[in-house]
Amino acid sequence: MISQAAFERLREEIAGYGAQLVAVSKKVEPARIMRLYEWGQRAFGENRPQELRDKRPALPDDVEWHMIGRLQTNKVKYVVGRTALIQSVDRERLMAALQQRAEREDITQDVLIEVHIAQETSKAGMAPEEVAAFFEGGGDARYPNLRFRGLMGMATYTDDMRRVRAEFRALRKLFEQLERGRPGFSILSMGMSHDYGVALDEGATMVRLGSLLFGRRR
Ligand SMILES: *Cc1c(COP(=O)(O)O)cnc(C)c1O
Repeated sequence: MISQAAFERLREEIAGYGAQLVAVSKKVEPARIMRLYEWGQRAFGENRPQELRDKRPALPDDVEWHMIGRLQTNKVKYVVGRTALIQSVDRERLMAALQQRAEREDITQDVLIEVHIAQETSKAGMAPEEVAAFFEGGGDARYPNLRFRGLMGMATYTDDMRRVRAEFRALRKLFEQLERGRPGFSILSMGMSHDYGVALDEGATMVRLGSLLFGRRR
């Protein structure tokens, strides 16, 4: 686990870019999440809806939960109205399920669209062209209880930082194209432990760090 001093330096570095840190706490037990909480961290990201549901009661109410993992439509009840931001919206069928649930709860749910920018086909996300067409065709208006706050993406897992940079740059470009004339569309979530420096450099407004904070996951 990171030391408090190193954590504070990291937070300053991220704040220097005007960006926000989401601490990815998947597979991390509540006691260690609490350490970061005590050092002032409030935004935590989980990738499994049931894990999020089970951890929530063990942590203070003002934790701001982010859903960052693949979401099945039958699990939306665990996250809608219970998360500050659902970052992993990667298909219209999921939007429809989220919309239905948010409408039933009479709330507006903040979401990001996950964009597929990596080479690996195993990674999730809508194609960049698909995302552009979705917004330009007014697709977001079909989901009045969802507030589209921006984009999320994961670069290819590689040591080739030129490739990573090119992928982040392409995502930033799409973000800038969509951001125009869309108030509230202001979040670009990109960058993980091994590539967050490049992501910040390329204009991330939010980074999602797990292993750098908590150590390697089991
Ligand atoms: C696990 C995960 C992270 C954090 O990854 P680290 O390499 O541990 O920093 C970030 N984003 C998503 C979507 C993840 O699933």
